[in-house]
Amino acid sequence: MLVRGLFRRCAWCGGKGSFFTSWYGKADQCQTCGLSWERGYEGFELGAATMGVFLTFGSIIVWMIISVSVGINLLPLLLVAGFLAITVPTVGYPLTYTIWFGVDLTIRKPNADDFAAAQKWLDAGKPSETPGQ
Ligand SMILES: [Zn+2]
Repeated sequence: MLVRGLFRRCAWCGGKGSFFTSWYGKADQCQTCGLSWERGYEGFELGAATMGVFLTFGSIIVWMIISVSVGINLLPLLLVAGFLAITVPTVGYPLTYTIWFGVDLTIRKPNADDFAAAQKWLDAGKPSETPGQ
């Protein structure tokens, strides 16, 4: 499920784009299986923010380890680290949600209520996708 999240797919069904309608815009449910990403858990976005911190700091730490072991000068080291600090959270924003969705599904398996809500949403023709809502 985490690997699916790394590729911006639904951790549950593998649906392309998961619950994202654009790179930054997201619907309440997965566009393919209808499973809600929050599932009544109001702190979900805190977990996604934590994934963003892991991705950003992780990329900077990996860069610093590589650059120190290779012997890169301080200025290019800091410039690339600054570039990573800006681009990784910007470009990786949807990945933080889909990865955390995979972690959340691993910890809290979806129950019958989650699937019932997903089926209801799919039967209603994905109402959050219609214009004006
Ligand atoms: Zn799905």
